[in-house]
Amino acid sequence: MSKSIGFYCPHCGTRMHVSSRKKPSPLLHELIVQCRNENCLASFAASLEMVRPIQNSINPNPDVQTGLPQHKRQWELELEHQLKSLELLPEIADEQKNYVEGFISALFHASTIDLTRAQTYRQRLQQIKLL
Ligand SMILES: [Zn+2]
Repeated sequence: MSKSIGFYCPHCGTRMHVSSRKKPSPLLHELIVQCRNENCLASFAASLEMVRPIQNSINPNPDVQTGLPQHKRQWELELEHQLKSLELLPEIADEQKNYVEGFISALFHASTIDLTRAQTYRQRLQQIKLL
């Protein structure tokens, strides 16, 4: 396995080749890239991460759609934290619920989460509001 990829050696500018790869999650690939310049031979560990979908698969893998817990993004951890604290203490001020609602909308409009995810989070929020 030695494929050319769009990484260029920072020392000499030669296009680098992938000498090995690991796949810690379906969305994250860790690569070892090597410079092929015989007068350089630098190598690096590199990460290739798919950060958001541009177009959904017509045959999506359900594990990928929900995201893997070990690779949850920072915003997602923040949102989970906010929702959990509201679920534990539903009497918390309305401002915090409005904040979470705004957060969900912002993520959706920035295409960070899809409609299904946004609705799941909104449903959780609505259940808290009914308490
Ligand atoms: Zn080089």
